[in-house]
This record gives sequence, structure tokens and C-alpha cells, in this order.
Amino acid sequence: MKSVQGQIANAFSSDGALAKAIDGYQERQVQTTMALAIGEVVPNQEKLVVEAQTGTGKTFAYLISAILSGAKTIVSTGTKALQEQLYYKDLPVVREALNKPLKTALLKGRSNYLCIERLKKQQAEGASGNEQLAHDLGQIKRWSAHTVSGDLGEVPGVNESSFAFPLVTSTADNCSGRKCKYYDDCYLLRARRKAMEADLIVVNHHLFFADMALKDTGFGELIPESELVIFDEAHQIPDIACGYFGQSLSTRTLKELASDVAYVYYSELKDTKQLLKAAQIVERCSDQLRLCFSHQGERGNWHEALKRQDIHNAFEQLSVNLDFLYQVIKISLGRSDTLDNCFERLLELKTRFDLFKQSDKLGFSFWFEANRLHLQLNISPLSIADKFTEHMKDLKTAWLFTSATLKVDDSFEHFNQQLGLTDVKTLSLASPFDYQQQSMFCVPRYLPEPANPQYIDALAQTISVLTQASNGGVLILVTSFSTLNRLQAMLSTQLSQQLLVQGSDSKQNLLKQFANDGHAVLLATASFWEGVDIRGDALRCVIIDKLPFASPDDPLLKARLDDKRKQGIEGFDAVQIPQAVIALKQGAGRLIRDQQDRGVLVLCDTRIISRPYGRVFLQSLPDMKRTRDIKQVINYLENISA
Ligand code: SF4
Repeated sequence: MKSVQGQIANAFSSDGALAKAIDGYQERQVQTTMALAIGEVVPNQEKLVVEAQTGTGKTFAYLISAILSGAKTIVSTGTKALQEQLYYKDLPVVREALNKPLKTALLKGRSNYLCIERLKKQQAEGASGNEQLAHDLGQIKRWSAHTVSGDLGEVPGVNESSFAFPLVTSTADNCSGRKCKYYDDCYLLRARRKAMEADLIVVNHHLFFADMALKDTGFGELIPESELVIFDEAHQIPDIACGYFGQSLSTRTLKELASDVAYVYYSELKDTKQLLKAAQIVERCSDQLRLCFSHQGERGNWHEALKRQDIHNAFEQLSVNLDFLYQVIKISLGRSDTLDNCFERLLELKTRFDLFKQSDKLGFSFWFEANRLHLQLNISPLSIADKFTEHMKDLKTAWLFTSATLKVDDSFEHFNQQLGLTDVKTLSLASPFDYQQQSMFCVPRYLPEPANPQYIDALAQTISVLTQASNGGVLILVTSFSTLNRLQAMLSTQLSQQLLVQGSDSKQNLLKQFANDGHAVLLATASFWEGVDIRGDALRCVIIDKLPFASPDDPLLKARLDDKRKQGIEGFDAVQIPQAVIALKQGAGRLIRDQQDRGVLVLCDTRIISRPYGRVFLQSLPDMKRTRDIKQVINYLENISA
């Protein structure tokens, strides 16, 4: 019987399990190195950080290592889409290749599963006047009659942003738990039970940190049980975890509670008019607080906002009336299980609400975000390092953190510091792609700097020229929606190729259209900087407008910069540059996805050359052939397009 390390090495060899199962399998030394490094840390519960650049094959490396080491494993990915790809595409190939018995489970967050109790409540309250909402609820009801998983992603003909979903899903606040009539049939609980029995569970970072921070119950028991925790797309952890190690409170949650209390009055306790009145006042006060902010939506510093008289008064009013609701419910305790549950929720919400009264607490950022309907108040810790290490220290688990983009200026220091990782092994695996042969990188000479009023015209002009040379196949990544809108207006009259724009369809559909067309131009921002994997000729050129520094209006960023300033550290170097380097590496990584791919990366921001900090960015990019001469780029694109 071979050792685990022997089995891992064998699985990746040219005549091993993968070679037998996958047509055209090519052995990659970097992939085997990564798998063996993981195999090494599992028995001693060590921590390993791996930057595995594009093309390494990191997913198979960690899956095979986890399965062959026999460790109970949690794999956490960045998004639900990646979670599904891993579970439905990659995992079956590996299972078949290894031919080992293995129990697996895919577990999503609470808001993905139908809540039977809330669906019944929705039906009892009757259809709303909104036609689209009534249609969506009808679809969900028909689907609910035969679903096995209760995963709302399976409902046909309902858009994923439908207003119907929040109405038929639970939150940790409104779930009745063991007191629920449908407890035994609950889809969420069934999914959690299945996960408890599995050898390998696939989750996403949001779910992982929600549970690690014990904001929700059920899945939290899985983390102590696991022997290996794998974070893929680990560069996203600091930002995601920050949201869960903090606190938040939405006027939506308060209104839901008020609506549930009113429902108890109508359905069970008709003799307690005060109950209805108190609930209605809380609902009204929640709306009044929301209305203090811009109708279009707004975000900012909560401490500053509270200095405004109207906001201060509305917040105080809500506080007084939450107390009033508390007193009124208290009188009827013991008369209705649902009301008792509302009382517990109210207690918890009141405690959270009070936290926002001390908005100058050190070490935290207090900020708000208002959308069209609700106001959300947030408290985020300025660093997650202490909390994260506190949670890690009691667990008898090996940890793997991996991503294609972890290092800044050739060092893991920034990533390790953010998570508070000490005593950690690191491994840097270069891409097997030949970037010198496969690609070119250009920062066009003579372009004005982004702050120059002539910049946007020059940018549009550059895009037009390059699109013509490559006959499409261009992905334009911009750093803001305002640039996206201005470019869309300019390019739609200048380009002969099909222009696809983020927001006109789902991300998945836009990418499909782009890949099928072969000559299209895709203009996008935000989420398209990551998770876009277009192989082959359809993508020949990636154009990036600016170095992707986070918006200085972001309240959390502002608070982090202030905090660094107080410590005598230059926030721009310590916070903004590393963040932007990781984002640029992600954007640049969209170009070459395969050994056969060829293309050009164009960055239209001359600050990368003219400013001293540009060196850190240049050093972090793949080793592409470099030029400043746009004519060379045009020739190159004409050649590969021909
Ligand atoms: S246990 Fe909670 S999530 Fe499950 S059906 Fe009941 S209320 Fe809904």
C-alpha cells in the first residue's frame, strides 16, 4: 500500500488516474507540487498559503489531495457560481478518476432555500397587486409541489433578483427553528444534515464566515468537525469576512418583524389592538428613517450622518418605539408561540440597534447604505486579523488559502497580515503559460492621465483603433459605472462590431454571447474583473482604463486610512496600493487562459510609468512582452486576428 504522498504523486503522473480519465491530460509539475504540499500539511494541521497562477490546475490539485488524504474537508469558494462549477463539473471528474467512495454535499446560505413556513404565510396573506410579483410567487408555488432540494436557483422562469425570493426565504431572525411546524421537512435543515454526514462539503465564503462568526446556527458545527479547510479565491476573504465579523441592521429586518407581529394580531390575538398599533408605528418609523436619505441610494459614514438633525430625530423615534413594541409584546407573552419568537427576535434587534448609538467606537467603521427601499447600518472591524486568528486557534484543522492573486510586490506579507496568519507555509507557483510568446502588454505613450479632461476621448479613440485592428474580441474593463456609461454612449456610434454592455443581460448570458460571436466587444466593470474564463480566439485583447484604486468615498476604506494615519503609517502604501495591485492582477488574468491563447493587454493609465508606485504594479504583472508603441500592438493584433 502506497503512502498518501505516493498516491498523490501517482494520481498526477502521465500514466496515473487523471491521465486515464481525462482525454488529452498533460502532466504539470506545478500542479503535482501543489497537491503534495497540501498532502504534507494535513497530518500536522498546518497552514499553507499558495499563489497558484492561471493554468496551474489548482482545483484538481486540492481536490485530489483532500480526497486521497482522507481528511474531512470543507472547500469554500468565492461565489455561488464557482461553488456550483466545482461541485457539478470538477468534483465528478475527480471522483470518477480516483474511483473512491466519497460522500459529498453542496451547501448554500439560508436565503437560497425555500422556507415552507414563509411560503404558507405568503399564501395566507393572498396575492399582491404587483403582476410580476404575483407571477413569480405562482411559479415558486408550482415548483414547490415537486422540488426535492428546495434550492430556489432551480425555479424556472423567475429572475434571480425577483422580489418574491425574500418573501419565501427565512433569515436567522425570522426562522422559528425547533418551534417551526415544518421543522422535519425543512429544506435548509435537510441540506445541513446532509452536509454533516459528508466527507467533502462545498460552501462559499459568505456562508463560511456567517457561521464562523456564529451569526447563524446549524452549519457552525461543521467547522470544528473538519480536518482540512480549503479557501479558493482566498484573496476575497478579508473583504467578505469583514462583513461577518461586524454587525449590521436593516430597516427591512425591523419591518419584517413588525409585519410578523401584525400577522399574529390578525391571525391569533384579535383582542390586543395595542399589538397592531405598536407594530405599525415601528414600520412607519423605519420608513421615516429611510426617507432621510437620498431616494437614489446613498452610502456614507454613520457617525457623520447622525449629526444631521432629521436623521438623529428619526433614529431616536425608532428607538423609542422599539421599546414601546417590546413593552406591548411582553404583556402577551405565552399566548402565542409566534409572538414569543417575535419577542426573542426583538430583544436581539434592540441590542444590535443600540450599538449604532456609540458610533465613535475605536477600531471600527460605522457606515450606512441606503437603497431604494431600505437603510442598512453596518459596523465593520478595521482589521479581521484578531477575530480570525481567535477562531482558528482552537480548531484542530489544516488550512489551505489559495488564489491566482495573493502576492503583492513578490511577497505574501500583505495577505498574511490581513488575516493575522503567522507560522504559515507559503508556496508560489508560476503559470505554465509562456507569456513572452503568447502575449503583449502595452501602456500607450502620449495618453493623458485619467484626471485630464481630454482623457475619456483619448480612451474611446484608443479602444476604437484597437478594436478595428483585432476585429473585435475585445474585453474592456473599467473602474466605474460612470466611465462605463460614457464609453457606451461614445463607442456605440464608433464601432462596427457588436457592443455588449454589463447590465443589459445576466453576466452568464453576456459571456456566452461574447464567446459565441468571436468579434464582439464586451464593456464591463465590477464583477467582470474576476471569474471571466474565455478561452480561445474569442478574446484577443483586454483593455483596462485605470489602475483600480478603490473609491475614496468608500466609508470603510476611509476609516482604514484614518486608522493607519493615527498609527503613523501611510495609508496609500499600506492599504490602497496592495488592494489595487490584487485587482489589476485579477483583471490582467482574464487574457491568457490556455496554452493556445494569444492576445494583448492594454492599460490606459500612464501613472503606472510616471509615478513611483507604478513599479509595484509592473512587478506584479505576468512576464508579457512589453511595449509603449501602439503601432506594435496594432500589428500584433492584426497578425493574430488574421
Ligand atoms: S425551520 Fe425555519 S427555515 Fe425551516 S421551514 Fe421552519 S421557519 Fe422556515
